[in-house]
Amino acid sequence: AKELGKNNVQFYAQEMNASLEEKLALMEGLRKAVDNDELRLVYQPKVDLASGQVFGVEALLRWHHPERGMVRPDHFIPLAEESGSIVAIGEWVLREACRQARRWQDAGVAPLVVSVNVSPRQFDDRRLVARVADALRDAGLAARWLELEVTESLIMRDVQQAIDKMRELEGMGIGLSIDDFGTGYSSLAALKSFPISRLKIDKSFVRDLAHSSDDQAIARAIISLSHQLQMRVIAEGVETEQQRAFLAQYGCDEMQGYLFSKPVPPEDIPALLARQDAA
Ligand code: C2E
Ligand code: CA
Ligand code: CA
Ligand code: CA
Repeated sequence: AKELGKNNVQFYAQEMNASLEEKLALMEGLRKAVDNDELRLVYQPKVDLASGQVFGVEALLRWHHPERGMVRPDHFIPLAEESGSIVAIGEWVLREACRQARRWQDAGVAPLVVSVNVSPRQFDDRRLVARVADALRDAGLAARWLELEVTESLIMRDVQQAIDKMRELEGMGIGLSIDDFGTGYSSLAALKSFPISRLKIDKSFVRDLAHSSDDQAIARAIISLSHQLQMRVIAEGVETEQQRAFLAQYGCDEMQGYLFSKPVPPEDIPALLARQDAA
C-alpha cells in the first residue's frame, strides 16, 4: 500500500508538472499570437425570433497554434487573462471585428451589429474607452454597429466603476449586453443602474428547457425581468426547434445557437443572410 501511495504521488506530481509546463508554453505562445497572425475571428448570427431575421453576429476568437492546431478559447482566454496578454489580444479582436463590420457594409451585405466579448482585465484597462473609440474611427464604423458583451461577475466586482465606464461607452452610442446572465451573482437593484440594452440567457438554462421545469421558470423570469427593465433578451445555445418554440412562446426577443448556425468564418456570412432572404 505504501508503494502504491508513493507511485500515486509521483504520478500526480508528473501530471501537475506537465500541465504547468503546458500552461507556460501556451502563455508564451499567446504572447506572440497576435504578431504571428495566428488569431482569427468566427461569427455566429443572432436571430430575431419574431421575424426570423439576422440582425447581428457575435465575434468568437480562434487560435490556430502552429503545432497544436486549433486551441479552444475556453482553454486559452483564462491563460491570457492571467498573463495579461488578453489586453493586446482583446485589442486585436476589437479592431478586427470593427473592420469586418465595415467590410460587410461596404460589400452591400445587410448592416449587422457586431458583438465583441470583453474580459475583466480588458474592461479594467483605463484606456478601454479610448481604445474602443480608436478602433471605430480607424475602421470607419459608426458606434451603433458595435456591441460589447460583459459578464455579470465582471460588473458586480466594482459596481460604481462599471457604471461609470459603461455610461461613457453608452454615451458614444455603443450597445452593452450582459453575457451568461443567471450564472453569477447580480444585484438586481444594481442592474437597473447599468446602461444595458440586452441580457443574454446562459446556455446552461437553455439546454434542458424542453424537460426541466426549473429551467423553464428561470428562462421566463429572466425574460420578464429584461422586459421590465426595458432591455431586450437573447437566448444562447439554442440547438433544437423545441427550445426555439419555448423561447418564442415565453416572449424571448432573440436567439443564437447551432439551430440557426454555428460560428462561421466572415466570408460565409453573406450566404447565410441570402439563405434567410430566400426563405
Ligand atoms: P460565450 O461568450 O458564452 O460564447 C458562447 C459559446 O457557445 C461559444 O463558444 C459558441 O461557439 C458556443 N455556442 C454557440 N452556439 C452554441 C450551441 O447551440 N450549443 C452549444 N453547446 N454551444 C454553442 P466558443 O466560441 O468556444 O467560446 C467560448 C468562450 O470563450 C466564450 O463564451 C467567451 O467567454 C470566450 N471568448 C470567445 N471569444 C472571445 C474574445 O474575443 N474575447 C474574450 N474575452 N473572450 C472570448
Ligand atoms: Ca459572449
Ligand atoms: Ca455566453
Ligand atoms: Ca459562456
